[in-house]
Amino acid sequence: MEFELTERQQEIRAAVRELCRRFPPEYWRRLDAERRYPEDFVRAMTEAGWLSVLIPRQYGGGGLGTLEAGLILEEVNRSGGNAQPCHAQIYMMGALVRHASEEQKRRYLPAIAAGELRLQAFAVTEPDAGLDTTQIATFAERRGDRYVVRGRKIFISRVQHSDLMLLLARTTPPAQVETRTQGLSLFLVDLREAGRGLTVRPIRTMLNNETNELVFDGVEVPAENRIGEEGKGFSYVLSGMNAERILIASECLGDGAFFVERATARARDRVVFGRPIGQNQGVQFPIARAHMALVAAGLVRDKAATLFDRGAPCGAEANMAKFLASEAAWDAANVAMTTFGGYGMAVDYDIERKFRENRLHLVAPVPNNLILSYVGQHVLGLPRSF
Ligand SMILES: Cc1cc2nc3c(=O)[nH]c(=O)nc-3n(C[C@H](O)[C@H](O)[C@H](O)COP(=O)(O)OP(=O)(O)OC[C@H]3O[C@@H](n4cnc5c(N)ncnc54)[C@H](O)[C@@H]3O)c2cc1C
Repeated sequence: MEFELTERQQEIRAAVRELCRRFPPEYWRRLDAERRYPEDFVRAMTEAGWLSVLIPRQYGGGGLGTLEAGLILEEVNRSGGNAQPCHAQIYMMGALVRHASEEQKRRYLPAIAAGELRLQAFAVTEPDAGLDTTQIATFAERRGDRYVVRGRKIFISRVQHSDLMLLLARTTPPAQVETRTQGLSLFLVDLREAGRGLTVRPIRTMLNNETNELVFDGVEVPAENRIGEEGKGFSYVLSGMNAERILIASECLGDGAFFVERATARARDRVVFGRPIGQNQGVQFPIARAHMALVAAGLVRDKAATLFDRGAPCGAEANMAKFLASEAAWDAANVAMTTFGGYGMAVDYDIERKFRENRLHLVAPVPNNLILSYVGQHVLGLPRSF
């Protein structure tokens, strides 16, 4: 059992922390108020190579593992920033590196690693299917050397800031497949060529995360942009999910650390009734409890990432890491809110912004209810609930 980060991992963490110093909480606060995309932050992360860590070296990437990628995202959120605007490019490598053809990898990965192309959008969710992805209806019909896509997607983030988008669409009607996970295919859509067939309607949410409804009305995608075999897209998406869970857990750990560090400092400095508020156990103990929960979740994340990077099965650990880290971070968010009293709600203290940003992770990209059902069914052997 190894509990220490390697020297290289420590260097990565320190380098990301240094980069984030150029983008302090005031920067994120301003963007949040103006609802703008952190263009210069994303560029800085790209130029430093942090968004291509999971791209193998032969395609110009960092060739690192999920643990390193997790440490990068964790550090961004811990600094008071938000990894959301740039995390998708890291997540999606799970599907691309494993399932794209050699020709596709050579065409796209070096350009993504060099920052010439951005892959920040992943379109899965649909209004009528919800969490039951096997029921998606957006249809890609094969016509010669192209597919023609029609349908609707909801909550698809960062489309305006991405050149490429991974799209999960149906290629065989549900009545013609043997199991409900068949008949879906994965495509790499070049958004610059989508033309008027794609309508993008922004959805305003409680956080500064540009997300959208997409309407596909005859968008043409070259058949050569299909990833892997037709009809197997669902399994490709599933195979990338463990990495996604580990990375989301990492962002939550970063958020949680931010809340605990801020709450601790506030509890030490704020004097009321003639003493620091942190001297009261009613203030001190919840912070200590939040810290312990984060440390425990961090160990599960480390185990999940280590197993993943070794190629060992890690579904249980990856799911549990996401659940534990998101719950621990949300508890820490509430503890920070309470510790700051009224000031927690004042925009200038950054607690309310991070509170809004962190809340997303209980629901997206996967709600914790689905993780409970995974653990109930796959870890404990209880009956399938859906
Ligand atoms: C800001 C934001 C950004 C997003 N970005 C993207 C993106 O880039 N790409 C993308 O594809 N999607 C994106 N999403 C969508 C997100 O992944 C989904 O909203 C999320 O997976 C939940 O799906 P849903 O909203 O359809 O929930 P629903 O399917 O309507 O479910 C609602 C709730 O019911 C519960 N529930 C449902 N079924 C069960 C069950 N069987 N057992 C127990 N509980 C159940 C869950 O707790 C769930 O939270 C984003 C969402 C948001 C809010």
